[in-house]
Amino acid sequence: MAQAVVPAMQCQVGAVRARPAAAAAAGGRVWGVRRTGRGTSGFRVMAVSTETTGVVTRMEQLLNMDTTPFTDKIIAEYIWVGGTGIDLRSKSRTISKPVEDPSELPKWNYDGSSTGQAPGEDSEVILYPQAIFKDPFRGGNNILVMCDTYTPAGEPIPTNKRNRAAQVFSDPKVVSQVPWFGIEQEYTLLQRDVNWPLGWPVGGYPGPQGPYYCAVGSDKSFGRDISDAHYKACLYAGINISGTNGEVMPGQWEYQVGPSVGIEAGDHIWISRYILERITEQAGVVLTLDPKPIQGDWNGAGCHTNYSTKSMREDGGFEVIKKAILNLSLRHDLHISAYGEGNERRLTGLHETASIDNFSWGVANRGCSIRVGRDTEAKGKGYLEDRRPASNMDPYVVTALLAETTILWEPTLEAEVLAAKKLALKV
Ligand code: ADP
Ligand code: MN
Ligand code: MN
Ligand code: MN
Repeated sequence: MAQAVVPAMQCQVGAVRARPAAAAAAGGRVWGVRRTGRGTSGFRVMAVSTETTGVVTRMEQLLNMDTTPFTDKIIAEYIWVGGTGIDLRSKSRTISKPVEDPSELPKWNYDGSSTGQAPGEDSEVILYPQAIFKDPFRGGNNILVMCDTYTPAGEPIPTNKRNRAAQVFSDPKVVSQVPWFGIEQEYTLLQRDVNWPLGWPVGGYPGPQGPYYCAVGSDKSFGRDISDAHYKACLYAGINISGTNGEVMPGQWEYQVGPSVGIEAGDHIWISRYILERITEQAGVVLTLDPKPIQGDWNGAGCHTNYSTKSMREDGGFEVIKKAILNLSLRHDLHISAYGEGNERRLTGLHETASIDNFSWGVANRGCSIRVGRDTEAKGKGYLEDRRPASNMDPYVVTALLAETTILWEPTLEAEVLAAKKLALKV
């Protein structure tokens, strides 16, 4: 069937045949609201061939169609975290007109028995729209909607970590501290079917790590188009993405989101992951957030979480940072248990990590659990970097726990004295 369909979807469009190559390339621009396409009212004709053969696909035409001149209706892609706590699911629905705020959107539901989130006999899970973003895939006024998940009775289901995070971030004490998060999301690209990193010889290994970090060149950098397409798609969507870089292990990349305030950090990371998964789907490449995709002398993938409160950013902030580090040291095991599945394979003490069993901190030291930048030390204020979270961590869990441990939680006096002694020994 597929073979019969493909040729039928192509057609010769005479007007396009005459377009110079440059115009055809410009026609590939994503989502400019341009109405320069010829032959059809408001449709943009896009050449798929790099040659000026004039072959276009109607599929591309339909996918790139700007519907705004014809209807007020928009498509909203409702997105939620599935039953594993790391998988993303989504489905789409028509909304009667463009919206500015998630409160204008209806609640919706899905079959939780198909996502491992509800028993078959009572399978309805309710989606509550919480944050909206522009949809870089459909363009126009279409949107991506970050949702969280509830039982019909209005109870958050166990995988709904956003609900608890939203509580923490609406606590007046936390609100007054305006917590900022800058999250460094690392990820690995795999060749489909063989599940082996992009750029690696199938059944073999590339040369040892060293030349790949922030590298250029076809023998050192693998998957840049994916990283770049993702970067622009995130900017378009309204995600607070702040940069990207190629990573130490070939086929591994990083992007940073933030600083974002409170619950926004989690929403932005989840939507950025959704966009990445959609782009890798288009590219026929597999995205993995496994914290240690390849055993051996290869870097793992983390999600360093840079964090500050208002008092840390103000004069005298370094003292506040040290107190936060003390609190973090006292709850090391709790934080580790919330920082991602399989993190013990990554936090070995090698490859710019600290051992999972010991809490440590230091200035400019990448082998510590918590790193404080030179700049922060020099200025006496700034932020800390929690290097422990794995790339597959849930940002709602990690950000909320950081705020809770450093703003809301108070250790007992004895624990504090004990820990202070332990820390003093280590520093
Ligand atoms: P690294 O040197 O560890 O690779 P990156 O440059 O990748 O660091 O990421 C640092 C992150 O910290 C960025 O997302 C940045 O926005 C964020 N950041 C900067 N200042 C603060 C701050 N005061 N509080 C929280 N995050 C911050
Ligand atoms: Mn980084
Ligand atoms: Mn990194
Ligand atoms: Mn870092």
